[in-house]
Amino acid sequence: MAKYVFMFDESKNPNTEEAQFVLGNKGAQLGEMTNAGLRVPYGFTISTQGCKEYYSLGKKWPKGLEPEIKRALKRLEKKMKKKLGDSKNPLFVSVRSGSYVSMPGMMDTVLNLGMNDKSVEAFAKLSKNPRAAYDSYRRFINMFADVVMGVAHSKFEEIIHAKKEEKGVKFDTDLTTEDLMEVVEGYKELVKAEKGISFPIDPIKQLEMGVNAVFESWNSPRAISYRRINNLRSDAGTAVNVQAMVFGNMGDDSGTGVSFTRNPATGEKEHYGEFLVNAQGEDVVAGIRTPHPIDYMKKTHPKMHAELVKIYEKLEKHYREVQDFEFTFERGHLYLLQTRSGKRTAHAAVKIAVDMANEKLITKEEAVLRVKPEQLDQLLHKQISSDAKKKANLLAKGLAASPGAAVGKIVFSAEKATEMVDLGEKVILVRMETSPEDIEGMHAAQGILTARGGKTSHAAVVARGMGKCCVAGCEEIVVSEEKNTMSIPKKEMVLREGDYISLDGGTGEVFEGSLALVEPSLSGDFGTLMKWADSYRKIGIRTNADTPHDSKVARGFGAEGIGLCRTEHMFFEGERIKAVREMIIARDETGRRKALDKLLPFQRSDFEGIFTEMDGLPVIIRLLDPPLHEFLPKEEGDMAALAQEMNLPLEKVKEISSSLHEFNPMLGHRGCRLGITYPEITEMQATAIFEAALNVKEKGIVPVPEIEIPLVGNVKEFTDQKKIIEAVAERLNVRGKIKYKIGTMFEVPRACVTAETIAKEVDFISFGTNDLTQTTLGFSRDDAGKFIQAYLEKGILETDPFQTIDQKGVGKLMIEGVNSARAVNPKMDIGICGEHGGDPASVEFCHRIGLSNVSCSPYRVPIARLAAAQAALKEKKAQKQGKKTKIGKKNK
Ligand code: PEP
Ligand code: MG
Repeated sequence: MAKYVFMFDESKNPNTEEAQFVLGNKGAQLGEMTNAGLRVPYGFTISTQGCKEYYSLGKKWPKGLEPEIKRALKRLEKKMKKKLGDSKNPLFVSVRSGSYVSMPGMMDTVLNLGMNDKSVEAFAKLSKNPRAAYDSYRRFINMFADVVMGVAHSKFEEIIHAKKEEKGVKFDTDLTTEDLMEVVEGYKELVKAEKGISFPIDPIKQLEMGVNAVFESWNSPRAISYRRINNLRSDAGTAVNVQAMVFGNMGDDSGTGVSFTRNPATGEKEHYGEFLVNAQGEDVVAGIRTPHPIDYMKKTHPKMHAELVKIYEKLEKHYREVQDFEFTFERGHLYLLQTRSGKRTAHAAVKIAVDMANEKLITKEEAVLRVKPEQLDQLLHKQISSDAKKKANLLAKGLAASPGAAVGKIVFSAEKATEMVDLGEKVILVRMETSPEDIEGMHAAQGILTARGGKTSHAAVVARGMGKCCVAGCEEIVVSEEKNTMSIPKKEMVLREGDYISLDGGTGEVFEGSLALVEPSLSGDFGTLMKWADSYRKIGIRTNADTPHDSKVARGFGAEGIGLCRTEHMFFEGERIKAVREMIIARDETGRRKALDKLLPFQRSDFEGIFTEMDGLPVIIRLLDPPLHEFLPKEEGDMAALAQEMNLPLEKVKEISSSLHEFNPMLGHRGCRLGITYPEITEMQATAIFEAALNVKEKGIVPVPEIEIPLVGNVKEFTDQKKIIEAVAERLNVRGKIKYKIGTMFEVPRACVTAETIAKEVDFISFGTNDLTQTTLGFSRDDAGKFIQAYLEKGILETDPFQTIDQKGVGKLMIEGVNSARAVNPKMDIGICGEHGGDPASVEFCHRIGLSNVSCSPYRVPIARLAAAQAALKEKKAQKQGKKTKIGKKNK
């Protein structure tokens, strides 16, 4: 015969999937806590089998259920030393539903079952609080009659409302004991009038009706809809948990509290939490009384405190994780009501993971898996203090483009930014959108705010590279660069140059005024966790860095080389822009070469700096990529200055400028197309790279240049450029002295589809997933910000494809590219350098398709290291379980 009832301590392994189908999710949790030696209020679970048979027998209890419940109740009463609904020492119980998965709020619960006219009096006496007793009683009648007997809750509300009117009071809490006694009578009369029977006073009858009501709630319309919507099994049935109620409001030897096994803010192993004497759980949460810190209990309730200390140990030993738990002590007996893993700050997460591994509570592998890579952002950047944020005025919200926080005075141009910073001011550069010209201003500013542009817009990419806070695509603001105003129509506010704002680049929030910031702090634990992560990770981590300074920062964060150096970012500094513009304006090769000769020494010295910082590590240097007109001045005044400089009429400069105009610059004259049309540019850049390498080598540095040709979709584009680079290498007699590579980026679908042919010519490949996403989805990187939010809200997209690789589309092309390239050259280095290289989900994907490395901005390097380690550990676990893990072909 089936067994229907299980005491909480009766199942050996209550928390297995199989057991959860019998005991339900809640019954399993209660069983597990009891087995772990944690004192939860005792009770029993009626299995889902009982529920299923109840239905198959036409809503009747199966044979054997009643005696089993009675036996279980006896055991419960014995353990609690109380009797259900007794007139002297009453036990009250809760009756709760619980299916194999939690269906929050979908099924029924009854609390304080066992109350009647006599037991309530006993409760009043024991608690010395008649008001609380009658308040519980009237709540019980209301709940029971509503849930079990089907009397509408609103009718009870009418009665209590009338009583408040009669007494001229506003709140339930203003009613006296006598008032509540009258309410109770009114409730009982209501039940009789509605149902034609008296409210059941026999506790056993109450229990029987309560159990049936929970069984029935399995098929309530809302439960059925919930199961349908969430694809849950409709044949599973619900279990019923009958559990002793405990009261923290039974006098000064009773109380209640909430605690964490470790401090969730700092990670320190200390007793963190608070408690209240003679109170119920809601009182702590409601904040009506100020609770005491846990340590204060040592003085007031030393025995309870000693028990609590044991609970901390037991909880952590059993769950091997920080627990956030609720407890109640009733007349000197301490009970645990609930426990779950505790939420924590990034700082605490790192410390707790490392400490727990050192304490041998968890393994190092588990420690590495315990910290969310995204959380590390909090550690690497300044943040707005949480207190300041609570009081702040939120002006607008844009895209969280680059993490960290910034406070400063608004400026609307890059020039103004540098000017004010030179005067010792802190500024935020606010622009409609940024262009490469703004680089100096971005550098000088504390943070950047743009009204347009997505997460791979120029502003976002550059800001991340600099580790600078940026909110992009903030469509709620209107920037007038002419009037020097930033207005927020929704708020009917206009801010002007010099007004303070604060940005949170991690959330995209823009606040009014100057908010307090907190500094990042990197602890020794952080280093330890990173070291452990590196020992598990299989793919290399490089960085996207364009300057010696960024290279140094990234190396400090653990970068193992440069995966992308965007040479155009060097073109904007100081005097260089003049030479660049001269080159663009030049109408023939001779003119261009003259200008390029001026640029050469600048580039060479930049590369020397980068090679020096990256001594011994590979450095991918990408040849010039953006459309040339991006470098030209846009303002009339700047054009006039250029005209004068070049000894040309202003009209001529304007004419050339407009001749360079493109309708779709992102698909226009850019990437390798520049070097193909103007080979002298490639020649100059290759010369700068090789000369820099030769120069630093003489100083004992080991340069490892890897020259990269962008936006290749046809192998002949690559071979055309490669020939030029090889000719320079020949001319400078590089061979044998410098180990160099020549490779390409896969940024257009055709490159992936023809990878086999391209792979025969290249030494390495790097996926430029910013452009590959743009060219595969047909979404402009700069304009997609306008509609992506709507796509996400409508569920057309699950994630922003410019942030997390679109695995089903772009990802498929990547797999095709990797497999075809590796078929030709199994050992070839294949990496990724789009913004996805710092996104944990994308890093995991890159690991699974067998990439050799990922490259991301310096401040994301630790995130990528941790994400890569987690990907490897998850793979190891899956392999142990015999699951398929690799999607592409494995490297090496
Ligand atoms: C890319 O397209 O992914 C890439 C890294 O190049 P950029 O962002 O400079 O176009
Ligand atoms: Mg690109």
